[in-house]
Amino acid sequence: MPEPTPIRPDLEELPEAPFVAGIGIAGEVHAIPHAYAARAIGAGVRRESGTLCGARAGLHREPSAFDRAALPRWASVCPPCAWTVAVETTSLDRELQELAVAPGQVR
Ligand SMILES: [Zn+2]
Repeated sequence: MPEPTPIRPDLEELPEAPFVAGIGIAGEVHAIPHAYAARAIGAGVRRESGTLCGARAGLHREPSAFDRAALPRWASVCPPCAWTVAVETTSLDRELQELAVAPGQVR
């Protein structure tokens, strides 16, 4: 029977969320699948991870879940990543609200 893979201490900091927030080259926020993030940390290349949309993004020093509600309003969120997460996590209603424009608000 193979030995169980020891859990690296730096992997424990990864949130128990299906998607982790990643920062792209221009500062935009992408969604990194949990497994990708774990692989990047395990390989010691936390600045380079694949994302849902195919862009490359880096993990924050203290990785957080890709949670639309928790991201600041000013954050530039990658639309393909946001919609994919919305579908995967059945939070499409929440994502549609992001598109709603308040009266008097200019976009
Ligand atoms: Zn993206």
